[in-house]
Order: sequence, then C-alpha cells, then structure tokens
Amino acid sequence: MRENIIELRNIKKVFDDTVVVDDFNLTVKKGEFVTFLGPSGCGKTTTLRMIAGFEFPTEGEILLNGKDISSLPPNLRPINTVFQRYALFPHLNVYDNVAFGLNLKKLPKSVINEKVKNVLEVVDLEGFEKRRISTLSGGQQQRIAIARAIVNEPDILLLDEPLGALDLKMRKEMQLELKSMHEQLGITFIYVTHDQEEALTMSDKIVVMSDGMIQQTGTPEEIYNEPKNAFVADFIGESNIFEGRMAASMTVEFCKTQFPCVDNVPKDTRVDVVVRPEDVIITTPEEGQIRGVVDSAVFKGMYYEITALCGDNEIVIESTRNASPGQEIGMKIDPDGIHVMPAGVLMNVYDGVITKDGRAAFAGGEYECDLTQLYEGSRQSGECSVITAGGEEIDLAGTYVTVEVPVKAVSMSDEQKEYRASGNIISFIYKGNHYNYTVRTATEEDFVLDEDDLWNEGDHVSLMIPKDEIILKRK
Ligand code: ATP
Repeated sequence: MRENIIELRNIKKVFDDTVVVDDFNLTVKKGEFVTFLGPSGCGKTTTLRMIAGFEFPTEGEILLNGKDISSLPPNLRPINTVFQRYALFPHLNVYDNVAFGLNLKKLPKSVINEKVKNVLEVVDLEGFEKRRISTLSGGQQQRIAIARAIVNEPDILLLDEPLGALDLKMRKEMQLELKSMHEQLGITFIYVTHDQEEALTMSDKIVVMSDGMIQQTGTPEEIYNEPKNAFVADFIGESNIFEGRMAASMTVEFCKTQFPCVDNVPKDTRVDVVVRPEDVIITTPEEGQIRGVVDSAVFKGMYYEITALCGDNEIVIESTRNASPGQEIGMKIDPDGIHVMPAGVLMNVYDGVITKDGRAAFAGGEYECDLTQLYEGSRQSGECSVITAGGEEIDLAGTYVTVEVPVKAVSMSDEQKEYRASGNIISFIYKGNHYNYTVRTATEEDFVLDEDDLWNEGDHVSLMIPKDEIILKRK
C-alpha cells in the first residue's frame, strides 16, 4: 500500500460571499497521477492554488504527509507548479531558465550543471542549453517549463492546463511524454484539465468536479464505465442519457421498452440511464429490443456514428456497420451496457415567504399560488388570508413557507417580467428527447427544468411556473 502524501479535508473556499469550492475531500497517494477534471469555472485551479499555497482555504485543512500545511506559504511547501502560460524568462537562455531556482539556492556550479543536464534529458531537450527561449516551439517551451519545475525535485508537481496552449498534435505527443516522465520520476502529479480525453489518457485517478464540488472520484475505467450521475456520464465521453423507471429490480424501462440490466434497484425507482454509443448493437428490425429509423450516419474513421430515432428519443450508435438515413433498424443493448444511476433533481425546493398580496416570494421572484394548501380544508378569504375548516380567519402575510416546484412544471423564456425569478443557464444535459437545464438566479438559487429547445449556457432567462404547480408547506 502506497502512503498518502496529500489529504484535503472538508475544504471550502469563499471569494466575495461566493462559494467556489465546497465539501472537498480527497486523498492523494505518493507517486499518483491525479487529475482534476471539470468545466470552466468549476474550481479546479482554485483547489490547485490552495495545495500550492497561493490561496488559503476558508475552511478545512490540507495535510502533507499527515501534517497540516494549510497556512504554510508556497515557498515552504515541497511543491512546484507548471502553468498554462509557461512563465519562462524570455531574456534568459534555456540553461539559465532551468537553473534559475537552483541558482537562488546557491548550489555549487557543478551540482547545478549536473542537475540541468539530467532534467533536459528527461524532457528530451539535451543540447538545447544555449538556445534562446524565443527560438523554441510552444511544445519545447512547455517542456522547459516542466524541466524548470522538476529540477527542484519537488515531492509534488502541480500542472494547471499545461498543454492548453498547444495544438492538438503537439498536445497528444506531450500527454504521452508527461505520462512517461511521471513514471520515470516517481513524483506525485496533480493535473488540471477540462479535456476529458486528456484526463482518461494520463491519470491514475480522476476527480470530476462541477460547481465547486466533487461529483465522482475514481480510476479512468470507473469514471467511464460506472458514472455516478448524469453530469459525469455527459462530461466523460459520448453517451445516451435517458430518463427511466425500474420496472422490476433488474429490469429498467426507458424509450418505452423494458430492458434487463445488472442493477439491483427497487421497482418503480425513477432513474437516469446511460448507454454508451458503442454499446448499442444494430440488428435487423425483427431481432432488436427496440426499433428506430436512421436519421444520420457519419463515417468517423474507425466507426460510423449513426443517429436513430426511436419514437421521440434520439439514440446515438457507434458501429462498424453502416446504415443509411431513412432505413429501419433494430437495436439491442446487453445488460452490462446499461448503466442505471439515481435520477437527477425531480423537485426544486426553496425557502419562501407569503407577500401581502398573497403571492409566494422565493428565489428572487414572486408567484401566484394556492394559499389554501397551508391549512387543510381551508378556503381563500382575502387576497392573502384563508378561513380554516374550523372557521378561523388567518392572515398569511409574512408567513415563512417551503416552496416545492416539480422540475416538469417550470418553463423558461427570454422575456423578463417584473415578478418572475430570472437567472443564467449554468449547465444542461441532453436526455434523448429533451434538455435538462440548471438556471442559477441572482439569489444563487438553482432551478432545474426540462425544455425541448436548445438554449446556450450563459443565456439569461426568466422562469414561469403555473399557479397550481406550486406546492406550499408551512415551516
Ligand atoms: P478554468 O478551467 O476556466 O480555469 P476552473 O475550474 O479552474 O476554471 P477556478 O479558476 O478555480 O475554476 O474558478 C472558480 C470560480 O472562482 C470562478 O467562478 C472564478 O471566477 C472564481 N474565482 C477564482 N479566483 C477568484 C478570486 N481571486 N476572486 C474572486 N473570484 C475568484
């Protein structure tokens, strides 16, 4: 068993009242290659900077070899960082750039010479000592940046999107080189990227992040084959995601069909189902578990990417067999190609208050609602009062309530209206026949809703909820 080198315990980071990292727990073993993977703004860099010591956690602790280093400055941590922008000194040559940190430590010249020579070999740039930085390609500059970091022999190397500025071919080459450097050096690597393929190629362990929180931690195989939720499935690789229901403990229903699966989940549980395109097998219409009509087929080099319509559900298939648009096909999915996950949010829940004109105020908006829900058997009397079954009149203005709004009841519009809550779309997932959106309001509350149309991340929308869909409960 390898020992732990870094532990992050209950880390939280708040910038200007905004929580950007929350409830972050992670153990990194000595010599591991760990990757933080997630969309832009999800808190990867901030977490890395806390490990480096450029930022301090608002809450929680960071342990290095079991000792709390949360408040130790960067220069006292045995950690080096490589950034996307190489931050090399343009006026120094390769040798002086790499030797910079060693010169500061005032090591003997002969030791410095030896170390620089060794690391230039590791990054495959021996003989480049006298070259000026401006004469190097992007990939070579990045290798020098890595050489400059590893020459200090850190216990941990942090790499923040180090290949982000390189073109695709160079990036692929450098991915393999970095991986072999990692194996050769035995240093612990903590790597940040938003590129899932890069993460899958290089890592021992991937930490999938969204919105400041860890969604799943696991090996590349675990993350790909057993995604924990629709976000991870959608973010890692191509996938079909459907809303489903357990028809029996090992039978799941989606696309109006029952499929045997390997998940032992109680009957009637609502679930999300993930099927990778390569797990959909094309058959004759008669032999398939479901039938569909081919909508498009594109040759991708190793396989055809075929989209078929099964009722109103779109199914993406990767197959070595071609099919032509308009053709009827059958499709089969083996039980182990079906991944059943807990359903996403089904109900939005907020803290609210009843206004004096009888509306429910929550999430930055005010909505008409049925106040009689608050007292069983009551009837509405005034604008914001009810008469209970016992005949008592109750003024509800200022009453604190819990407001529940089913995901299926919310819709959105780009038209702003005075009373409606509004916010920006922060993420969405395609679920076969509709999109599942998350909209964050100015009050930092989220609405999850389903829509057929495609909107963009960042779009500002207002939220509509029919009066009879708002469920009120007294606190
Ligand atoms: P990217 O891939 O785009 O670099 P990321 O996942 O690394 O994104 P972070 O850079 O960690 O994300 O940022 C997380 C959130 O914290 C963002 O909303 C960002 O605007 C915010 N943030 C980061 N640094 C600061 C700061 N010094 N002050 C205020 N907000 C900050």
